[in-house]
Amino acid sequence: MSKKPWYGEGLRFQCTECGDCCTGAPGYVWLNKAEIEAMAAALELEVPAFEEQYVCLVGIRKSLLERPDGDCILFDGQTRRCEVYHVRPRQCRTWPFWQSNVRTPAAWAEARQACPGCGRGRLVPPDEIERIVAIIKV
Ligand code: SF4
Ligand code: SF4
Repeated sequence: MSKKPWYGEGLRFQCTECGDCCTGAPGYVWLNKAEIEAMAAALELEVPAFEEQYVCLVGIRKSLLERPDGDCILFDGQTRRCEVYHVRPRQCRTWPFWQSNVRTPAAWAEARQACPGCGRGRLVPPDEIERIVAIIKV
């Protein structure tokens, strides 16, 4: 029998659309081929043109570029929204239910510090959290 996770009663999350997770401190948004193709199509660009404008290589992996202030290159500072929200990468789509955030209560508490949506709103059941965590290893 598998052990019940510490979040066996579920965790609350509802995005407040503050935009904080797309801005600020530098970081990486890892991309696969399908994600690059989807974002390029959303912006009506060919893949090579999209990669030239929006993607950087980090070793052998690809990530979204950032502006000098750390904001994601696809974050629109005026509307405070993602320019490709409907096709945003898995890493963005699955926040805050990343392995690194849900592995312990302390890790979740840290995520709550960074994201005002964590700990409020809809109670997400544990099986849904586990399904989301399995989408990408972050
Ligand atoms: S930091 Fe949290 S609440 Fe703010 S936009 Fe990101 S996911 Fe939503
Ligand atoms: S791709 Fe969109 S959702 Fe993801 S960090 Fe950039 S602006 Fe935010």
